[in-house]
Amino acid sequence: FKLNNKLTRCFSQENFTTGSSKVRSPINAYYNHFKHLPLPNDKVFATYVWIDGSGINLRSKDRVLDEVPCDLSSLPRWSFDGSSCGLAKGDDSDTILIPAAIYKDPFRKNPHIIVLCETYLPDGTPTSTNFRSNCAKTLSEINNLEPWFGIEQEYTIFDSDLWPLGWPKGRGFAVINPLYSYCGNGEHVAGREIVECHARACIYSGINYTGSNAEVMKSSWEYQIGPTLGIKAADDLWLSRYLLNRIAEQFGSIISYHPKPMGKCHPGIGCHHNFSTNKMRDKDGIAVIQSFCKILCERHNEFIKNYGLGDGEENKKRLTGKFETAPYNSCTWGVADRGTAIKLKKSVVIEGKGFLEDRRPAGDCDPYRVSKMLAEICLQYNKL
Ligand code: ADP
Ligand code: MN
Ligand code: MN
Ligand code: MN
Ligand code: MN
Repeated sequence: FKLNNKLTRCFSQENFTTGSSKVRSPINAYYNHFKHLPLPNDKVFATYVWIDGSGINLRSKDRVLDEVPCDLSSLPRWSFDGSSCGLAKGDDSDTILIPAAIYKDPFRKNPHIIVLCETYLPDGTPTSTNFRSNCAKTLSEINNLEPWFGIEQEYTIFDSDLWPLGWPKGRGFAVINPLYSYCGNGEHVAGREIVECHARACIYSGINYTGSNAEVMKSSWEYQIGPTLGIKAADDLWLSRYLLNRIAEQFGSIISYHPKPMGKCHPGIGCHHNFSTNKMRDKDGIAVIQSFCKILCERHNEFIKNYGLGDGEENKKRLTGKFETAPYNSCTWGVADRGTAIKLKKSVVIEGKGFLEDRRPAGDCDPYRVSKMLAEICLQYNKL
């Protein structure tokens, strides 16, 4: 069973058509009336969220609890039909949801919650897209190193007709000039309302959301998570994707994390991972950072498979050596050069300590897989 990612959250160019946009009608007063209907104090909505069999789409369903849960262990486990999510066969499709992290619900507000879950098969093994369980295990083994992750998520906003928001309809690519869109404003950007709602929703929820900027391709944006200790960075990233998808739904727009949504003449969509351990942040940490970068490049072929959906195949389209990327088949690291796969900020070299930036992960990567790979290096070369 294989879900067609391209038709859902990941697009490839051949799926695009031009046409008139069909925008959802504004939320009406009637809906507002019910949203503000007071509920009994002991009723709490819990939205359980999980990653489906595609490895990028998220699913959710709601249940009503009789009290506000004080921690993860007081939340019930749940199950869902794995065969409808690409995670189980039809004749044995009960799939288990185990709560992993609790966030406040920015849609319904306090006391309602969103519960990020791991998925398990009935025999207790993690499903094919549950990379969190392994990631948590590896991270727990490097607790003493206090690993920090800072993630830069880029994405593209599409209109309901699957054409990028704000791009001229039916006039092809030629009129788009990417020179003015990065950190731009006015006619050079599109979808800022979504960015603003998303920022506030993330912060309200308890995600360590730390900033945003408009990206090089019009209608694409970036936000940053962290730096955050341990697995919370990846948890936050997944939940922030969920919130973004839900907010876009209200605007009649569609979010894509595809690494090269508009073909080779337009910029790609990445998900840079910044990483440090206490040794790297301490005095003379630069030596540790440099050894780390060297290993990251030596093991490039193995890493790159974990850095994008479908074992990184789509990421090949992005990592061309153009548009501030490094080529897919090689790995270089250096200072303040956006054409290297792994980058050190100039300030890190000057101060002699800090963190490194792995620029290889695709927009549709699983941060659990990336975090696990980075943590494994620390484990295998224990002097790092
Ligand atoms: P750029 O676009 O130049 O790469 P950004 O400001 O977009 O830079 O992103 C910087 C990222 O580095 C942020 O996600 C931030 O969380 C992360 N970061 C900063 N300091 C550290 C650190 N010590 N360890 C890990 N990540 C860090
Ligand atoms: Mn049913
Ligand atoms: Mn950035
Ligand atoms: Mn960027
Ligand atoms: Mn970056």
